[in-house]
Amino acid sequence: MILKEAFAARRAGVHERMARLDPAPDALLVTGPENRRYLTGFTGSAGMVLLVGGDALLVTDGRYVEQATEEAPGCRVVRHAPEPFDTLRELVQAAGLRTLGFEKEHVTFAFHEKLAAALTEVMLVPTAGVVESGRAVKEEGELEHIRHAARLVDEVLGEVVRMVRPGISERDIALEIEFRLKRRGAGLAFEPIVASGPRSALPHGRASDRVIETGDFVTIDMGALWHGYASDLTRTFVIGRVDARQEEVYHVVLEAQSRAMEGLRPAMTGREVDALAREVITARGYGDEFGHGLGHGVGLAVHEGPRLSPTGEARLEEGNVVTVEPGVYVPGWGGVRIEDLVVVRAHGAERLSGFPRELTVL
Ligand code: ZN
Ligand code: ZN
Repeated sequence: MILKEAFAARRAGVHERMARLDPAPDALLVTGPENRRYLTGFTGSAGMVLLVGGDALLVTDGRYVEQATEEAPGCRVVRHAPEPFDTLRELVQAAGLRTLGFEKEHVTFAFHEKLAAALTEVMLVPTAGVVESGRAVKEEGELEHIRHAARLVDEVLGEVVRMVRPGISERDIALEIEFRLKRRGAGLAFEPIVASGPRSALPHGRASDRVIETGDFVTIDMGALWHGYASDLTRTFVIGRVDARQEEVYHVVLEAQSRAMEGLRPAMTGREVDALAREVITARGYGDEFGHGLGHGVGLAVHEGPRLSPTGEARLEEGNVVTVEPGVYVPGWGGVRIEDLVVVRAHGAERLSGFPRELTVL
Protein backbone atom coordinates (compact mmCIF):
# COMPACT_ATOMS: atom_id res chain seq x y z
CA MET A 1 0.00 0.00 0.00
CA ILE A 2 1.17 3.50 -0.76
CA LEU A 3 0.77 5.73 2.29
CA LYS A 4 -0.37 9.34 2.16
CA GLU A 5 3.01 10.44 3.51
CA ALA A 6 4.76 8.98 0.46
CA PHE A 7 3.39 11.71 -1.81
CA ALA A 8 4.75 14.54 0.34
CA ALA A 9 8.14 12.81 0.49
CA ARG A 10 8.16 12.42 -3.31
CA ARG A 11 7.40 16.11 -3.75
CA ALA A 12 10.16 17.00 -1.30
CA GLY A 13 12.56 14.95 -3.45
CA VAL A 14 11.52 16.91 -6.52
CA HIS A 15 12.22 20.19 -4.70
CA GLU A 16 15.71 18.98 -3.80
CA ARG A 17 16.51 18.03 -7.39
CA MET A 18 15.00 21.29 -8.67
CA ALA A 19 17.23 23.31 -6.35
CA ARG A 20 20.28 21.73 -8.01
CA LEU A 21 19.24 22.90 -11.50
CA ASP A 22 20.89 25.88 -13.08
CA PRO A 23 18.91 28.08 -13.24
CA ALA A 24 16.88 26.64 -10.35
CA PRO A 25 13.24 27.56 -11.07
CA ASP A 26 11.00 28.98 -8.29
CA ALA A 27 8.33 26.39 -9.08
CA LEU A 28 7.65 23.46 -11.38
CA LEU A 29 4.64 22.85 -13.59
CA VAL A 30 4.12 19.09 -13.88
CA THR A 31 2.18 17.93 -16.94
CA GLY A 32 3.37 14.32 -17.49
CA PRO A 33 0.40 12.05 -16.63
CA GLU A 34 2.47 9.51 -14.67
CA ASN A 35 4.37 12.30 -12.95
CA ARG A 36 1.12 13.95 -11.93
CA ARG A 37 -0.14 10.69 -10.45
CA TYR A 38 3.20 9.96 -8.76
CA LEU A 39 3.27 13.32 -6.98
CA THR A 40 -0.38 13.58 -5.95
CA GLY A 41 -2.15 10.20 -6.17
CA PHE A 42 -4.71 11.71 -8.57
CA THR A 43 -5.66 9.14 -11.22
CA GLY A 44 -7.78 11.36 -13.51
CA SER A 45 -6.77 11.94 -17.09
CA ALA A 46 -6.58 15.76 -17.05
CA GLY A 47 -4.83 18.24 -14.83
CA MET A 48 -1.50 19.80 -14.03
CA VAL A 49 0.39 20.19 -10.80
CA LEU A 50 2.07 23.41 -9.76
CA LEU A 51 4.75 22.67 -7.16
CA VAL A 52 5.53 25.89 -5.41
CA GLY A 53 7.30 26.13 -2.07
CA GLY A 54 5.92 23.30 0.04
CA ASP A 55 2.55 23.42 -1.73
CA ALA A 56 1.14 21.26 -4.47
CA LEU A 57 -1.65 22.89 -6.44
CA LEU A 58 -3.60 20.41 -8.51
CA VAL A 59 -5.24 22.38 -11.32
CA THR A 60 -7.99 20.47 -13.06
CA ASP A 61 -11.38 20.91 -14.69
CA GLY A 62 -14.87 20.68 -13.19
CA ARG A 63 -15.26 16.97 -13.98
CA TYR A 64 -12.40 16.04 -11.70
CA VAL A 65 -12.58 18.37 -8.70
CA GLU A 66 -14.36 15.90 -6.44
CA GLN A 67 -12.19 12.96 -7.46
CA ALA A 68 -9.00 15.00 -7.08
CA THR A 69 -10.01 16.18 -3.62
CA GLU A 70 -10.55 12.57 -2.57
CA GLU A 71 -7.45 11.08 -4.19
CA ALA A 72 -4.91 13.80 -3.53
CA PRO A 73 -4.86 14.61 0.18
CA GLY A 74 -2.35 17.30 1.03
CA CYS A 75 -2.82 19.01 -2.33
CA ARG A 76 -4.84 22.16 -2.95
CA VAL A 77 -7.30 21.36 -5.72
CA VAL A 78 -7.99 24.32 -8.00
CA ARG A 79 -10.81 24.21 -10.53
CA HIS A 80 -9.57 26.08 -13.57
CA ALA A 81 -11.39 28.68 -15.65
CA PRO A 82 -12.60 27.69 -19.14
CA GLU A 83 -9.13 28.77 -20.29
CA PRO A 84 -6.72 26.93 -17.96
CA PHE A 85 -3.87 29.33 -18.75
CA ASP A 86 -5.88 32.22 -17.20
CA THR A 87 -5.99 30.29 -13.92
CA LEU A 88 -2.33 29.44 -14.18
CA ARG A 89 -1.46 33.11 -14.65
CA GLU A 90 -3.43 34.04 -11.51
CA LEU A 91 -1.70 31.35 -9.45
CA VAL A 92 1.74 32.31 -10.71
CA GLN A 93 1.13 35.99 -9.99
CA ALA A 94 -0.29 35.27 -6.53
CA ALA A 95 2.84 33.26 -5.69
CA GLY A 96 5.08 36.03 -7.04
CA LEU A 97 7.01 33.59 -9.27
CA ARG A 98 9.80 34.98 -11.44
CA THR A 99 10.83 31.67 -12.97
CA LEU A 100 8.78 28.55 -13.69
CA GLY A 101 10.11 25.15 -14.67
CA PHE A 102 8.10 23.05 -17.10
CA GLU A 103 8.54 19.47 -18.27
CA LYS A 104 9.88 19.79 -21.77
CA GLU A 105 9.23 16.12 -22.53
CA HIS A 106 5.58 16.41 -21.51
CA VAL A 107 4.27 19.51 -23.27
CA THR A 108 3.32 20.10 -26.85
CA PHE A 109 4.60 23.00 -28.91
CA ALA A 110 1.10 24.52 -28.71
CA PHE A 111 1.03 24.21 -24.92
CA HIS A 112 4.36 25.99 -24.64
CA GLU A 113 3.16 28.78 -26.93
CA LYS A 114 0.08 29.37 -24.76
CA LEU A 115 2.07 29.17 -21.55
CA ALA A 116 4.57 31.73 -22.81
CA ALA A 117 1.75 34.01 -23.98
CA ALA A 118 0.00 33.79 -20.58
CA LEU A 119 3.14 34.31 -18.49
CA THR A 120 4.98 37.06 -20.32
CA GLU A 121 6.66 38.29 -17.11
CA VAL A 122 7.96 34.87 -16.10
CA MET A 123 11.09 33.09 -17.31
CA LEU A 124 10.18 29.57 -18.41
CA VAL A 125 12.85 26.96 -17.64
CA PRO A 126 12.76 23.68 -19.59
CA THR A 127 13.46 20.66 -17.35
CA ALA A 128 13.74 16.92 -18.01
CA GLY A 129 13.70 13.96 -15.67
CA VAL A 130 13.25 15.90 -12.42
CA VAL A 131 10.27 13.75 -11.42
CA GLU A 132 11.30 10.65 -13.38
CA SER A 133 14.57 10.24 -11.52
CA GLY A 134 12.55 9.85 -8.31
CA ARG A 135 10.15 7.45 -9.98
CA ALA A 136 13.04 5.22 -11.06
CA VAL A 137 13.75 4.17 -7.45
CA LYS A 138 10.76 2.28 -6.11
CA GLU A 139 9.41 2.42 -2.58
CA GLU A 140 8.32 -0.83 -0.92
CA GLY A 141 4.66 0.14 -1.43
CA GLU A 142 5.25 0.52 -5.16
CA LEU A 143 7.13 -2.78 -5.28
CA GLU A 144 4.13 -4.50 -3.70
CA HIS A 145 1.95 -3.34 -6.58
CA ILE A 146 4.49 -4.29 -9.25
CA ARG A 147 5.04 -7.68 -7.61
CA HIS A 148 1.30 -8.31 -7.69
CA ALA A 149 1.07 -7.22 -11.33
CA ALA A 150 3.90 -9.67 -12.11
CA ARG A 151 2.19 -12.48 -10.23
CA LEU A 152 -1.06 -11.94 -12.15
CA VAL A 153 0.79 -12.24 -15.44
CA ASP A 154 2.46 -15.47 -14.30
CA GLU A 155 -0.94 -16.92 -13.36
CA VAL A 156 -2.71 -15.85 -16.52
CA LEU A 157 0.05 -17.07 -18.81
CA GLY A 158 -0.02 -20.40 -16.97
CA GLU A 159 -3.72 -20.74 -17.81
CA VAL A 160 -3.44 -19.48 -21.36
CA VAL A 161 -0.60 -21.78 -22.46
CA ARG A 162 -2.90 -24.72 -21.84
CA MET A 163 -5.09 -23.39 -24.68
CA VAL A 164 -2.26 -22.80 -27.15
CA ARG A 165 -2.30 -25.55 -29.76
CA PRO A 166 -2.51 -25.85 -33.55
CA GLY A 167 -5.73 -24.24 -34.79
CA ILE A 168 -6.03 -21.37 -32.30
CA SER A 169 -5.38 -17.88 -33.66
CA GLU A 170 -3.01 -15.29 -32.23
CA ARG A 171 -5.98 -12.98 -31.67
CA ASP A 172 -7.84 -15.57 -29.59
CA ILE A 173 -4.78 -16.03 -27.39
CA ALA A 174 -4.55 -12.25 -26.89
CA LEU A 175 -8.25 -12.06 -26.03
CA GLU A 176 -7.90 -14.83 -23.45
CA ILE A 177 -5.06 -12.91 -21.84
CA GLU A 178 -7.07 -9.70 -21.74
CA PHE A 179 -10.18 -11.41 -20.38
CA ARG A 180 -8.30 -13.24 -17.62
CA LEU A 181 -6.40 -10.15 -16.50
CA LYS A 182 -9.52 -8.01 -16.41
CA ARG A 183 -11.48 -10.66 -14.56
CA ARG A 184 -8.83 -10.43 -11.84
CA GLY A 185 -9.47 -6.70 -11.53
CA ALA A 186 -6.29 -5.74 -13.36
CA GLY A 187 -5.82 -3.67 -16.49
CA LEU A 188 -3.56 -4.20 -19.49
CA ALA A 189 -0.17 -2.52 -19.31
CA PHE A 190 -0.21 -2.76 -23.13
CA GLU A 191 -1.99 -4.76 -25.84
CA PRO A 192 -0.62 -8.31 -25.54
CA ILE A 193 1.88 -9.27 -28.22
CA VAL A 194 1.28 -12.70 -29.74
CA ALA A 195 3.57 -13.48 -32.67
CA SER A 196 3.78 -16.97 -34.14
CA GLY A 197 5.73 -18.77 -36.85
CA PRO A 198 7.65 -16.36 -39.11
CA ARG A 199 5.85 -13.46 -37.35
CA SER A 200 7.81 -14.26 -34.18
CA ALA A 201 10.69 -12.45 -35.93
CA LEU A 202 8.74 -9.22 -35.31
CA PRO A 203 9.79 -8.02 -31.85
CA HIS A 204 6.49 -6.16 -31.41
CA GLY A 205 4.12 -8.22 -33.55
CA ARG A 206 0.53 -7.42 -32.62
CA ALA A 207 -1.78 -10.43 -32.43
CA SER A 208 -3.15 -11.16 -35.91
CA ASP A 209 -5.57 -13.66 -37.45
CA ARG A 210 -2.72 -16.07 -38.06
CA VAL A 211 -3.54 -19.59 -36.90
CA ILE A 212 -0.94 -21.49 -34.88
CA GLU A 213 0.67 -24.47 -36.62
CA THR A 214 2.80 -27.39 -35.49
CA GLY A 215 6.46 -26.44 -35.40
CA ASP A 216 5.80 -22.73 -34.78
CA PHE A 217 7.53 -20.52 -32.32
CA VAL A 218 4.92 -18.52 -30.38
CA THR A 219 6.12 -15.42 -28.55
CA ILE A 220 3.76 -13.97 -25.95
CA ASP A 221 4.61 -10.61 -24.36
CA MET A 222 2.14 -9.32 -21.82
CA GLY A 223 1.79 -6.96 -18.86
CA ALA A 224 -0.79 -6.24 -16.19
CA LEU A 225 -1.64 -2.93 -14.54
CA TRP A 226 -2.31 -3.03 -10.82
CA HIS A 227 -3.08 0.20 -8.94
CA GLY A 228 -1.44 2.01 -11.84
CA TYR A 229 1.75 -0.09 -11.77
CA ALA A 230 2.79 -2.24 -14.70
CA SER A 231 4.44 -5.62 -15.13
CA ASP A 232 6.05 -7.03 -18.27
CA LEU A 233 6.83 -10.64 -19.18
CA THR A 234 7.74 -12.48 -22.40
CA ARG A 235 8.04 -16.17 -23.10
CA THR A 236 8.57 -17.99 -26.39
CA PHE A 237 7.13 -21.50 -26.79
CA VAL A 238 7.31 -24.10 -29.55
CA ILE A 239 4.27 -25.98 -30.77
CA GLY A 240 4.23 -29.76 -31.04
CA ARG A 241 7.88 -30.40 -31.90
CA VAL A 242 11.15 -28.54 -31.82
CA ASP A 243 13.91 -28.62 -34.43
CA ALA A 244 17.65 -28.28 -33.82
CA ARG A 245 17.89 -24.68 -34.95
CA GLN A 246 14.99 -23.59 -32.74
CA GLU A 247 16.64 -25.31 -29.81
CA GLU A 248 19.96 -23.64 -30.54
CA VAL A 249 18.52 -20.12 -30.82
CA TYR A 250 16.40 -20.59 -27.71
CA HIS A 251 19.42 -21.61 -25.68
CA VAL A 252 21.50 -18.70 -26.94
CA VAL A 253 18.81 -16.29 -25.72
CA LEU A 254 18.35 -18.15 -22.44
CA GLU A 255 22.07 -18.14 -21.76
CA ALA A 256 22.28 -14.41 -22.57
CA GLN A 257 19.41 -13.69 -20.22
CA SER A 258 20.89 -15.78 -17.40
CA ARG A 259 24.24 -14.06 -17.81
CA ALA A 260 22.66 -10.60 -17.49
CA MET A 261 20.44 -11.61 -14.54
CA GLU A 262 23.40 -13.07 -12.66
CA GLY A 263 25.79 -10.23 -13.47
CA LEU A 264 23.52 -7.25 -12.88
CA ARG A 265 24.57 -5.09 -9.89
CA PRO A 266 23.81 -1.59 -8.64
CA ALA A 267 26.21 1.10 -9.96
CA MET A 268 26.61 -0.65 -13.33
CA THR A 269 25.55 1.46 -16.31
CA GLY A 270 22.71 0.33 -18.54
CA ARG A 271 25.31 -0.20 -21.26
CA GLU A 272 27.36 -2.55 -19.08
CA VAL A 273 24.35 -4.72 -18.22
CA ASP A 274 23.28 -4.78 -21.88
CA ALA A 275 26.79 -5.90 -22.83
CA LEU A 276 26.60 -8.98 -20.55
CA ALA A 277 23.82 -10.42 -22.70
CA ARG A 278 24.97 -8.96 -26.00
CA GLU A 279 28.41 -10.60 -25.70
CA VAL A 280 26.85 -14.05 -25.38
CA ILE A 281 24.60 -13.51 -28.41
CA THR A 282 27.37 -11.98 -30.50
CA ALA A 283 29.82 -14.79 -29.63
CA ARG A 284 27.27 -17.29 -30.94
CA GLY A 285 26.94 -15.41 -34.23
CA TYR A 286 23.55 -13.73 -33.69
CA GLY A 287 24.69 -10.22 -32.72
CA ASP A 288 23.00 -8.60 -35.74
CA GLU A 289 19.75 -10.39 -34.91
CA PHE A 290 19.50 -8.77 -31.43
CA GLY A 291 18.25 -5.41 -32.65
CA HIS A 292 16.95 -3.77 -29.47
CA GLY A 293 18.15 -2.83 -26.01
CA LEU A 294 18.28 -5.43 -23.22
CA GLY A 295 15.63 -3.82 -21.05
CA HIS A 296 13.84 -0.84 -19.58
CA GLY A 297 12.53 0.45 -16.28
CA VAL A 298 8.94 -0.41 -15.32
CA GLY A 299 6.65 1.42 -12.90
CA LEU A 300 3.71 3.75 -13.48
CA ALA A 301 4.80 3.58 -17.12
CA VAL A 302 5.61 0.26 -18.75
CA HIS A 303 8.62 1.87 -20.42
CA GLU A 304 10.57 4.25 -18.21
CA GLY A 305 14.07 4.77 -16.88
CA PRO A 306 16.61 3.39 -16.47
CA ARG A 307 17.28 1.96 -19.94
CA LEU A 308 19.50 -1.06 -20.40
CA SER A 309 20.90 -0.55 -23.89
CA PRO A 310 24.16 0.08 -25.76
CA THR A 311 23.58 3.82 -25.16
CA GLY A 312 22.43 3.58 -21.50
CA GLU A 313 24.80 5.72 -19.47
CA ALA A 314 22.65 6.00 -16.32
CA ARG A 315 23.84 3.86 -13.41
CA LEU A 316 21.55 1.31 -11.82
CA GLU A 317 20.46 2.00 -8.27
CA GLU A 318 18.98 -0.24 -5.60
CA GLY A 319 15.22 -0.12 -5.96
CA ASN A 320 15.19 0.20 -9.76
CA VAL A 321 12.76 -2.19 -11.44
CA VAL A 322 13.91 -3.26 -14.89
CA THR A 323 13.20 -5.88 -17.50
CA VAL A 324 15.90 -8.22 -18.81
CA GLU A 325 14.76 -9.23 -22.29
CA PRO A 326 17.30 -10.33 -24.86
CA GLY A 327 15.99 -11.60 -28.19
CA VAL A 328 17.15 -13.08 -31.48
CA TYR A 329 15.01 -12.41 -34.56
CA VAL A 330 15.71 -14.05 -37.91
CA PRO A 331 13.57 -12.47 -40.66
CA GLY A 332 11.40 -15.00 -42.48
CA TRP A 333 12.19 -17.74 -39.97
CA GLY A 334 11.22 -16.62 -36.49
CA GLY A 335 12.50 -15.30 -33.22
CA VAL A 336 12.86 -15.86 -29.50
CA ARG A 337 12.63 -13.40 -26.64
CA ILE A 338 12.76 -14.18 -22.92
CA GLU A 339 11.81 -11.32 -20.61
CA ASP A 340 11.72 -11.15 -16.84
CA LEU A 341 11.08 -8.33 -14.43
CA VAL A 342 13.62 -7.78 -11.65
CA VAL A 343 14.22 -5.37 -8.82
CA VAL A 344 17.80 -4.23 -8.33
CA ARG A 345 19.02 -5.13 -4.84
CA ALA A 346 22.41 -4.57 -3.19
CA HIS A 347 23.60 -8.05 -4.19
CA GLY A 348 21.99 -8.19 -7.63
CA ALA A 349 18.72 -8.94 -9.36
CA GLU A 350 15.70 -10.24 -7.48
CA ARG A 351 13.23 -11.77 -9.94
CA LEU A 352 9.64 -10.58 -9.70
CA SER A 353 8.33 -12.85 -12.45
CA GLY A 354 8.32 -16.54 -11.66
CA PHE A 355 7.22 -18.22 -14.90
CA PRO A 356 9.58 -21.09 -15.91
CA ARG A 357 12.20 -20.11 -18.49
CA GLU A 358 13.14 -23.53 -19.87
CA LEU A 359 12.23 -24.33 -23.47
CA THR A 360 8.64 -25.60 -23.38
CA VAL A 361 6.97 -27.54 -26.16
CA LEU A 362 3.20 -27.02 -26.04
ZN1 ZN B 1 7.44 -7.07 -22.71
ZN1 ZN C 1 9.63 -5.02 -21.97
